[in-house]
Amino acid sequence: MAAIEQAGAVPVLVDIEPRYFTMDPGKLEAAITPRTRAVIPVHLYGQAVDLDPILETGRRHGLRVIEDCAQAHGALYKGKRVGSWGDLACFSFYPTKNLGALGDGGMVVTRDPELDQRLRLLREYGWAERYVSHVQGMNSRLDELQAAILRVKLRTLDEDNAARAGIAQRYDAGLVDCDIALPVCRKDSTHVYHQYVVRTPRRDALRQHLRNHGIAAQIHFPVPVHLQPAYRGRLAGSEALPETERAAREVLSLPIYPGLHEGEVQTVLEGVRAFA
Ligand SMILES: *Cc1c(COP(=O)(O)O)cnc(C)c1O
Repeated sequence: MAAIEQAGAVPVLVDIEPRYFTMDPGKLEAAITPRTRAVIPVHLYGQAVDLDPILETGRRHGLRVIEDCAQAHGALYKGKRVGSWGDLACFSFYPTKNLGALGDGGMVVTRDPELDQRLRLLREYGWAERYVSHVQGMNSRLDELQAAILRVKLRTLDEDNAARAGIAQRYDAGLVDCDIALPVCRKDSTHVYHQYVVRTPRRDALRQHLRNHGIAAQIHFPVPVHLQPAYRGRLAGSEALPETERAAREVLSLPIYPGLHEGEVQTVLEGVRAFA
């Protein structure tokens, strides 16, 4: 939201598909006005948005499509990596992400030569050559030490994602008969399980129960952006986000990361099963 407003644009929110937590392509059209320039689908929790209908609607309205890949490094949509579909795609390398640095970092990718050139100007003071600013840029260089770390970690990204998927399979199998909704995989997408998100109307009680068993389950995210103090009452589309608001009340992320070992997975399974 902050990035959109810093660019001088006006954000308009679109509700999610409740099964997948990603933008509902059927609700996009209604949010488009003659002033709309771009659409930003978010590949949330590790699986791809349903991109085809979004790209199609975007094409029909002459919009740029900017993928938010911050939670889905390495995920595939229809056999092709997320980040390779839109006009631009943004990745975060914040330490908790599937590909994380040891500090902040991020990356924008594009195959459009004009956007590429513009991004290179913006990232370093608007410089095309040293000390000459052609546009009002910023300092957004990826620190070289972080880049060096990321290059090494990139080699094992698919392996790390497979380890996450293995843990997710253990959760799926171990919780299948519990009275909570488990993550649903879209058939056109792989899931890289940045988060393993279950949902239940008894979310807060489940979280407390797990905490009592020494299991830290997190909420991603308890307060949707349109209800945050900075944005409350002023974002277009806010009045029609029932699924977003319901998800914010019901979602709970179980522990998942490549180093989580079998004993810990077992502890989580026993904890959840004792509740639900
Ligand atoms: C982490 C995250 C961001 C922000 O990334 P930063 O590197 O912290 O700026 C944006 N979108 C999603 C979906 C994220 O998970």
